[in-house]
Amino acid sequence: MSRTRTTCPGCDRDDRVQAVPAVYLAGRDAVTSRERNRDGDVRTVTRTVTTGLSDALAPVPRSPANAIGCVGLAAGCVGVGSFMVWMFVGGALEDGPEPVPDFAFEPPAPPGPDLGFLGWVSALALGVAFLVLVELWRRRAAFARLTRGRHRAEELWSHGWYCHRCGTVHLEDTPGEDRTPLTLQRFRERVWEHGGYGHLAARQRAMDPARS
Ligand SMILES: [Zn+2]
Repeated sequence: MSRTRTTCPGCDRDDRVQAVPAVYLAGRDAVTSRERNRDGDVRTVTRTVTTGLSDALAPVPRSPANAIGCVGLAAGCVGVGSFMVWMFVGGALEDGPEPVPDFAFEPPAPPGPDLGFLGWVSALALGVAFLVLVELWRRRAAFARLTRGRHRAEELWSHGWYCHRCGTVHLEDTPGEDRTPLTLQRFRERVWEHGGYGHLAARQRAMDPARS
């Protein structure tokens, strides 16, 4: 819990109130803490805090989906793999030992498998990988532009206090904002609007554990 306790305006108590950044960061990972049990023994407790709550309290939207990145990676692997096979196996067949022209009856070397198609597969796959890279770069740049104002959002966000009993957030010490308890979705809208990407809050809705 935090140094400066704040009272939840919903339940008028402070024992389950925690700063939003702390809740958010705790939900990113397993939390290990030393606690004293009823018998007075200190033990180390590792807890995994739900990441659903952490996600709901995120100050910025999720970055663009990485599904396309997986496609690009797969295409890159196929491209490089087929290129290697084409170069080394195909090349080895071509540069095989010269037939010794001593005997007129030397049968012609059996033709190796035609690996020419691998060249095309490789070129195609590398082309796809390149296009995916360009698209990823474009999306990343667009996302960075969109979330340019994230420092403003994070500033407001850092004044949020989450009550684990009510499942609501209220803002403390923020000029122009009252202490009304906000649902996670309303808090997200308020914060994201501050960052200039409030319209995304309608698309990426916060889960509301109070309702589930
Ligand atoms: Zn409360």
